[in-house]
Amino acid sequence: MSTNIFSVVEARCRHDAPLLYTEDGTTISYGDMLALTARYANLLASLGVVKGDRVAAQVEKSPEALFLYLAVIRMGAIYLPMNTAYQLPEMEYFFKDAQPTVFVHDPANATAKQELAMACGIPHCLTLDGAGLGSLSDQCRAQSASFATVDTSNGEVAAILYTSGTTGRPKGVMISHENLLANGEALVKLWGFTGADIQLHALPLFHAHGLFLSTHCALLSGSSMIFLKKFVAAKVVEMLPRATVMMGVPTFYTRLLDTPQFDLVACHNVRLFVSGSAPLLPETALYMQQRTGHTVLERYGMTESLVITSNPLHGERRIGSVGLPIEGTELRLADEAVNDNRPLPAGTVGAIQIRGPAIMKGYWRNPEKTAEELTSDGWFKTGDLGVLSEDGYLTIVGRSKDLIISGGYNIYPKEVESILNAIPGVVESAVVGVAHRDFGEAVTAVLVCSEPVPSADDIMASLKGQLANYKLPKKIFFVAEFPRNAMGKVLKNELRAIYGKV
Ligand code: ATP
Ligand code: MG
Repeated sequence: MSTNIFSVVEARCRHDAPLLYTEDGTTISYGDMLALTARYANLLASLGVVKGDRVAAQVEKSPEALFLYLAVIRMGAIYLPMNTAYQLPEMEYFFKDAQPTVFVHDPANATAKQELAMACGIPHCLTLDGAGLGSLSDQCRAQSASFATVDTSNGEVAAILYTSGTTGRPKGVMISHENLLANGEALVKLWGFTGADIQLHALPLFHAHGLFLSTHCALLSGSSMIFLKKFVAAKVVEMLPRATVMMGVPTFYTRLLDTPQFDLVACHNVRLFVSGSAPLLPETALYMQQRTGHTVLERYGMTESLVITSNPLHGERRIGSVGLPIEGTELRLADEAVNDNRPLPAGTVGAIQIRGPAIMKGYWRNPEKTAEELTSDGWFKTGDLGVLSEDGYLTIVGRSKDLIISGGYNIYPKEVESILNAIPGVVESAVVGVAHRDFGEAVTAVLVCSEPVPSADDIMASLKGQLANYKLPKKIFFVAEFPRNAMGKVLKNELRAIYGKV
C-alpha cells in the first residue's frame, strides 16, 4: 500500500460523510474534498508541478486552503505553508530558501507579491482569498475531478514547515508522508477518534498543530470538523455545543475562561479538550476543571517530530505534566553538556532526546544543522529540558536556550515562574537571563499583573524563603502584555533583547 497519507484517507473515507462544517452553514463532504483536490492537483500538474516540487501558500484559512494542502501532498509535491503575518522581506527569505514552483497568495497587495515571487525565480502565482475565490478556483473549474494519487513509498517529503521562530530564525523542517502517517495513526488511537467525532478547528493552517495534528485525526478517522476561520472566543462558545473534541493552544483556554458563556452547557457534548504548542499553566488547567469538569489533556510536540508525549485519554491526566511518550516514540533525558548518551534517572533534569517514526527527514537544505541536532547514537535533540517521574510522566522545565547560568549555577526559568505565578496579583511571568558583568547572566523577571499591582518589594519578599538566593530576580519589570508569536508563545529572545539593555 502507498504511504501517501492521502491514499490512506481516500481508501478509508465514505464519500457522502461530512468532512467540514463551515461558519456560513455549508457542509462539505469527503467526496467534495476528493473532487476539489483532484481539480487543484490537475491544475498544478498543468503548470508543470511534479513530485518533489514546492508549492508555497500564504493564504487565509478556508476549506479551499486545506484542500490546496491536500492536493499538493496527493500529487507527491511538497506543501510549504507560510504564516499569514509574514511581510514581503520575510517572505523573500522563504522563497530563496525553498525555491517553490508555484506561489498561492491572497489577492491583497498582489502586484508586490508577484513582483517579489518573480524576482525570486518563482514561475507561477495563483490567488486564493479567505472566501475561497481567486485564480486557483477559477482555473481549476476546467480541470478533471479525478486524479490518480501519486505513490510516495520512497520516503518522499510531504511538506516543509518552518518552525515558529521562538528562539531565532524559523528553520525549514522536512516532514515525510511516513512521519505524518505514523503520528496521525498513533494520535487517532491514543485520543480515541471515531467517525462520530466532530472536532472544533480554530487553529491556523500554517503550523503543524492546525495543519497536521488536528486535521489528520479527522481525516484518518473519517470524522468531521467545524472549521472556523480563526479563534474568536464568542464564536467558539457558540459552536462548541455541536463539537466532541477541541484542540487548542493554551491561549484558547485562557480566552474561553474569560468568556462568561463558556460553561457546562456549552461543553455538554465535548469529550476531549487537548492543549499543546506551549505550556498550559496549572492555574488554567485547574480553572478549566472547575468551570467545565474537564481535565484538559496536555501534550507536547514540535514541528520536527509532531506529537512526542501526551497525557492519556483514559488514566491519569497529570496537571503540569505533558504525559508519556506516544506509541512508537522513545524518549530519554541526557546530559548534553557532557555529551553523554546515558539516560538520566527519574527526578533529574536533563535534555529531552527522542527517537521514532515521526522525526523529520531533516532541515531543508541544511544537513549541518540536521547533524547538529542528532546525538552520536542517532537520537534527536529536542532543545527542551525536562524531568521524568518514577512512573514515566514528563514535565518540561524549559528550553535549553532559556536556561540561565548565573554565578555558575543553573536556574530553570519555569521553577521561578511557577512561584511568581502563585503570588496574588501576578497573572503571568516570564523569567529570562540577561548579560551581567559579575554573574555572567542575571535572573530577570517580567510580570503581567492585575490590579492592585503588587510592588517589586512585596514580590521579592514573597520569593525569599521559597527560592535559593541565586535564583532570585536581580530585577523585576512590569508589562501590560508579553510579546508573543502566532502560536501564542512568549518570545523570550525579545524580552532578553529589551531588558538586557535596561
Ligand atoms: P523555533 O524552533 O523556531 O525556535 P518553536 O520551537 O517554538 O520555534 P515549534 O516547533 O512550533 O517551534 O514549537 C515546538 C516547541 O514548543 C517545543 O520544542 C517546546 O519548547 C514547546 N512546546 C510544545 N508543546 C509544549 C507543551 N505542552 N509544554 C511546553 N512546551 C511546549
Ligand atoms: Mg524549536
